[in-house]
Amino acid sequence: MHTAAAAIEVTDLTVAYHDTPVLWDVDVRVPHGVLMAIVGPNGAGKTTLIKAILGLVRPAAGQTLIAGLPYAQQRQLVGYVPQRGSVDWDFPTSVLDVVMMGRYGRLGWFRRPGSRERELALAALETVQLQQYANRQISQLSGGQQQRVFLARALVQDAQVYFMDEPFAGVDAVTERAIIGVLQGLRAAGKTVVVVHHDLQTVPEYFDWVTLLNVRVIACGPVAEAFTDEHLRRAYGGRIAFLGGGPSAEVQDAGHAGAPR
Ligand code: ADP
Repeated sequence: MHTAAAAIEVTDLTVAYHDTPVLWDVDVRVPHGVLMAIVGPNGAGKTTLIKAILGLVRPAAGQTLIAGLPYAQQRQLVGYVPQRGSVDWDFPTSVLDVVMMGRYGRLGWFRRPGSRERELALAALETVQLQQYANRQISQLSGGQQQRVFLARALVQDAQVYFMDEPFAGVDAVTERAIIGVLQGLRAAGKTVVVVHHDLQTVPEYFDWVTLLNVRVIACGPVAEAFTDEHLRRAYGGRIAFLGGGPSAEVQDAGHAGAPR
């Protein structure tokens, strides 16, 4: 979908928890049809940025727009895969039901999900290679499988803009490949996908757009322009191992927000 407005437009955004700013004067403009990583040290405000865009935290200042309008008017366009740790996985429900929940926004309040919803949900489970788990309880799946169930739920929403908070956390390499394949498929279909990501080494391979964040935006743009050693140093405050030419780093716990040097 290409409209004059950007897929995501964040302007002068400041968010504070208990009077401590965790995002400061953030400007981010994401065009339609890109696959963007948000990177930055722990506590940099990555999750908070997504939550502010989705209206889950109230900003102290600034505005956020999805395709030119506030999220409240664009819910139908937006899919969200939260951090795995923020979900109650003991909730007694089947994998298929979790995926079908992705359709509720489209169905409205009065229609119950029917065979079409079931078909769409099964197709999405097939896309994430979990069709054989459709009738399992969600609590019985591994972490990587649960992550893929939430991805399937976002897929059936048929959104235009997706936000995924650490979809690769705790998943094995095969699952990671499967997930990135799905995300690249979404981009190929013209969707905009925003991913909180921790492994700097895979950024150039997986993504075409990147935002480097550490309370403030250090850089936001095409990977080739924004993902530079200089910007990484500013985002991570020098506590990062650069190996060879391009930016490659040990990034797990490679520093914390708040004191970039
Ligand atoms: P990131 O996703 O980059 O690790 P977060 O957005 O989760 O960073 O957090 C940014 C900062 O805000 C951190 O210092 C974190 O401790 C703080 N924070 C996050 N959520 C809350 C909350 N609900 N109440 C108070 N502080 C919070």
